[in-house]
Amino acid sequence: MKMITLMPVIDAQKCKGCKTCIRVCPTLAMKLEEKLAVVDLERCRGCANCEQRCPEYAIVMAPRPEPILAGVDPANLDYEKIRELCLKARFHPEQTLCYCTGTRADEVAGAILLGAKTPEDISCMTGIRTGCKVECIEPVLRLLEAAEIHPTPVPGGWQWYGRTITAWEIPVSVKQKYASRGFYFDEDIEILDRVVSAPLQGKEQ
Ligand code: SF4
Ligand code: SF4
Repeated sequence: MKMITLMPVIDAQKCKGCKTCIRVCPTLAMKLEEKLAVVDLERCRGCANCEQRCPEYAIVMAPRPEPILAGVDPANLDYEKIRELCLKARFHPEQTLCYCTGTRADEVAGAILLGAKTPEDISCMTGIRTGCKVECIEPVLRLLEAAEIHPTPVPGGWQWYGRTITAWEIPVSVKQKYASRGFYFDEDIEILDRVVSAPLQGKEQ
């Protein structure tokens, strides 16, 4: 859940239509119209990626006239289905996935149950990936995969590239190779499994 208080303002005199802002926007809120960048404020989640990357310094972030709230409340959905999806992706439902926005696994799973099919949809619905824009793509992709949804990156976009393997997927040969060098993969997996299957703490229990 994220309260969005900022929006990009584009200086048409400076914009050169280079599309950098389109390539980096995690919610696909930017497009070109008549060779100038235009923002869809319904999709914008105020992350400032476009402002930070515009090579012409044509964008400044300004307060929104009215802040908007992006979020999915898992308490309004079938929590057992949310829990199943989280466990399949090996997340505890109450695990925080995005520390910038405080978005938990159950909220992302809720967005998927409501029909989100891509990381961009999920960012739009929950605000995840609109803080540092770096860390939380991996868990988003894992939850989509658990729901048997396999999105592909937007052609020409720089939003994300794919997911890396998890501790559970490390090949046996790699485990064996590093076993004598102070790596404890199986012990780590055991601890992670205990975290994932711990009882729920919150009111949804
Ligand atoms: S990155 Fe800047 S110059 Fe390039 S299209 Fe966007 S606003 Fe225009
Ligand atoms: S979501 Fe971020 S990158 Fe996209 S338009 Fe809004 S501020 Fe710019």
